[in-house]
Amino acid sequence: MAGGWTADGAVQQQIDDSIKDALAKLRAQQISGPGLLNCEECSAEIPPARREALPGVRLCIACQSALE
Ligand SMILES: [Zn+2]
Repeated sequence: MAGGWTADGAVQQQIDDSIKDALAKLRAQQISGPGLLNCEECSAEIPPARREALPGVRLCIACQSALE
């Protein structure tokens, strides 16, 4: 059965790829999760409106503008 093994391998590769996609999406969701309540740099409180507008935000407005 020439080619049979190759076809099975291709299907397995597709399955592996979908698992990788699902894991990548999960990781992306974790990264863009609720974010931080306080700035990573100066520990100032990050306003709830800013956290809602920028999911996963880690810096206050001052520190973010200093970086940009
Ligand atoms: Zn800050």
